[in-house]
Formats: sequence, C-alpha cells, structure tokens
Amino acid sequence: EPVILWLRRDLRLGDQAALLAACAEGPVVPVYVMDDETPGHRRMGAASRWWLHGSLASLAGDLRASGSRLVLRRGRADEVLPALAREVGARRVHALHHYEPWWRNAERAIARVLDLVLHDGNYLHPPGLLKSGSGSPYRIFTPFWRALRETMPPPEPMARTDKIPAPSSWPASEHLDDWSLRPSSPDWATGMAQAWQPGEQGALDRLEAFADSAGDYDVARNLPSVEGSSRLSPHLHFGEISPSLVWHRIARRDGRTEPYLRELAWRDYAQTVILQHPRHGSANGRAQFDDFPWRDLREAAGDFEAWKRGRTGYPIVDAGMRQLWTTGWMHNRVRMIAASFLVKHLLIDWRHGEQWFWDTLIDADYGNNSVNWQWVAGTGIDSSMFVRIMAPLGQSAKFDAADYIRRWVPELAGLPDGVVHDPESHGFRPSGYPARIIDHRAARERALSAYATVRA
Ligand code: FAD
Repeated sequence: EPVILWLRRDLRLGDQAALLAACAEGPVVPVYVMDDETPGHRRMGAASRWWLHGSLASLAGDLRASGSRLVLRRGRADEVLPALAREVGARRVHALHHYEPWWRNAERAIARVLDLVLHDGNYLHPPGLLKSGSGSPYRIFTPFWRALRETMPPPEPMARTDKIPAPSSWPASEHLDDWSLRPSSPDWATGMAQAWQPGEQGALDRLEAFADSAGDYDVARNLPSVEGSSRLSPHLHFGEISPSLVWHRIARRDGRTEPYLRELAWRDYAQTVILQHPRHGSANGRAQFDDFPWRDLREAAGDFEAWKRGRTGYPIVDAGMRQLWTTGWMHNRVRMIAASFLVKHLLIDWRHGEQWFWDTLIDADYGNNSVNWQWVAGTGIDSSMFVRIMAPLGQSAKFDAADYIRRWVPELAGLPDGVVHDPESHGFRPSGYPARIIDHRAARERALSAYATVRA
C-alpha cells in the first residue's frame, strides 16, 4: 500500500527521517501542498515564494533522479491530503515536525482522518522537550543554550536515499510554473538569482564554502563588509539541509566553532518561543507593551517608506535595506541596526517592520523573525526592561562597514573611510543621497520617554 510523504519546509532527500520511514513501508507518493488557505496560515512573502520555486524545481529533479516524482497540489492541507490519500489508496502520511501554529492546527485535523506520523530532524533537539529546573519551558536564550548544549551532538545525519520506491501509477500533479511564484515583469529578482542557488545542492555547496572558515566566525560575523557568516539561513529555513548535518560538518574539538554552534541554536530557541506563544508574530510577548505609544502609521508613512527604500540618510541603515531589497538577505548586525532604527528612532511598531522583512527576506521565518524583532523592540518574553538605543553611525564605524556602504549605496561610493559612515557631519552632501530624516539625539530622547511610559 502506498504511503504519502508530506513535504513542507524540509525540501531535501538527505537526513530526512520522514522519507526514510516512508521508503521502508511501501511505494512513496511525495507531495508538496501550496497552502494559502488553512485558517491562520501566514501567506508566504514574495521573496520566499521566489526561493520556493527554485527549491521545488531542484527537489523535483532530485526525486526524478531517484526514480520518484514530486506531486504538486494547491489548497488546504487538511483537505488536499485526505483527497490524495483516497486517490492513491494510502492511509499513512509521513512528515517532519513543524511548529508554526497553523501547521499544528492542520496536523490535528489531518490526524483525525489519516495516520499521520511526525518525525524529528529539522532542529538540533526536538523543540518543547527541554525544561528548566522548575519544569517549565525556557524563556531566556542563555539557559536554554546551556541545556541544549548538554544534549549535543545531535544524532549523526542519516544516509541519503538514492532509490525511492514508486507507486504503480502516479496521481496528477499541477505545474510549478502555473503557481506564478516568481515575478514576471518587472523582474525584481535578478539580484537574488545572482546571489543564491536554492535547493539541496546549493545548500551543501554553501556549507562547504563556509566550513573551513567557521573558526573565524566569532569576529568575522560582525563585520558587514566581509562574508563572515555561513549564509545558510534560507537553506535552513526551507529545510534543504538539516541542522544536524551542519553541526557535524562544523563542530571542532578546539572550541573555536562554539560561537557558530551557539548561533545555530537560536533557531531552536525561536521554536520554543512560538510553542509557548503561538501568536508571537503579531502579539507582544510582554503585555505591558500593548498600550505602547507607537506613532500612528498614517502620520509616520513617509518615514516608514524612507526606511523600506533605504533612504533614511543613515548610510548603514540604507545599505542594509538596499541589500535586503536586492538580494533578499541582510547581514545580521545590520538587521539589528536597521530594526532598532525603525522601532526606536522612528518609533514605528515592530510589527510593521516584521511584516516588511516577512515579505522581502528569502529566509523569512515565523519563529526567527518575530523573536528577533521582539528582542530588538524589547517587547519579547526574553526582554529585560533595560532600554538600549543603538547609535547607527557609531555601530557603522565600530564594525567597519565602509566597504559595505560603498557597495550598497552607490551615491556614497566615492567617499573615504572616515567620512562614509556619516557624511552629513563631515559637511558632505553627496548628490542624490537624502539628508537625515531624523536627528539622532532628538530620536533618542523621544524613544526614551516612550519606553519610560511602559516602565511606569
Ligand atoms: P549565521 O551567522 O551563519 O548563522 C547560522 C544559522 O543560525 C543561520 O542560518 C540561522 O538559521 C541561525 N541563526 C543565526 N542567528 C540567528 C538569530 N539571531 N535568530 C535565529 N536564528 C539565527 N533569521 C532567519 O532565519 N529568518 C528571519 O526571518 C530572521 N529575521 C530577523 C529579523 C531581525 C530584526 C534580526 C535582527 C535577525 C533576524 N534573523 C532571521 C536572524 C539572523 O539575522 C539570520 O539568521 C542571519 O543573519 C542569517 O545569516 P547566516 O545564515 O549567514 O547566519
């Protein structure tokens, strides 16, 4: 009897527990359901859709090479899967665990009519299992990491399957091109296509390119001008590579790769947060912030637009926002600076920034995005009441972002190191580059008084 392999954000054949379990039971029908309809489902953003197209095309090719196929269907997962099961005569569905609230709802509905078997493998350790001394799930990263580290290394990656048993006849599949996941005209994705190779092979190549320099990560990751981080985030988000494979390739006994492994654990941490707070993508982790005096977006519309387009007059912020727009990715340090600028300097609700990132990031991830936005905004469950306002110009100089700025803000390409972080203070007015939309000191004062209302 055929079994269904339900693929979601786990678009790989290597180290895929659900695939291996399915192969052991009978002919396998792999299906990807394009689901914009499950209630509460967050529609994928435009950049994610672009990535998904490439990832599904690559996976379909790999499945074909293994004697299988990828069946594409659209609709609510809890309707599509039972219908497909009837068509092919299957009762059992294998899938990997995911923790977005809409998936957990869909799983409950599917499990009522089919035999749904969920496997681990998308995280270093099954999210939700680790408990603190008092028996409750962790709220703060550092103790979470200490506990997680104790359970490491993760299981060795499972072997890749190169022969997948096929059913005697294949159910119909929709055509990927009909899903219109990629832009037609204007094609805003050419910068993304130059920078990335979606799919499992692209992920493995990226890991190899990074692996030997992982020992330098601790310092290099903070420098926007160098490629000091792994850039695996979209591959990990779409599950084109397993975190366990990454761990085993990177981990070294000498301790120099610890900072990288610790950063990888933030992915796991974000899942424990959304398990505790399923609405973390749109609701403050700390309810005290529900009456926070954010500016009305109608009044702040011009500032919000300047931020999105990379025209704030703060070179590091603008470079980051333009890198995001062009390549679908932004350097982590710059994400923190740009997010802080929106929330603190412009006093715009973090949810608007989260939404923009959701639409423009190729690694947009419900857990990671909301946890990081709420961390920056100070609204998250892990936040302390200490208000920190990043000084964008100081950060830019401290982390040596000059080359990064010259690359992403062509108006500033001719400026020397000492000037490019802060041309305005040096009396430079490069043509085409906007004046600062807000003064740093005034913005800082305004943010401090707004945050003081929460403290009270
Ligand atoms: P590396 O530094 O090489 O890290 C390796 C992997 O660890 C990453 O690929 C990622 O999977 C994970 N990781 C690293 N840092 C974090 C972190 N702070 N939180 C969660 N996971 C992390 N990351 C996303 O994957 N999706 C998002 O939607 C996202 N939104 C963010 C929004 C804001 C405002 C900020 C400040 C950060 C956000 N991040 C997000 C986290 C981080 O910026 C990216 O994961 C990282 O820049 C990806 O680049 P990399 O693969 O080279 O990371």
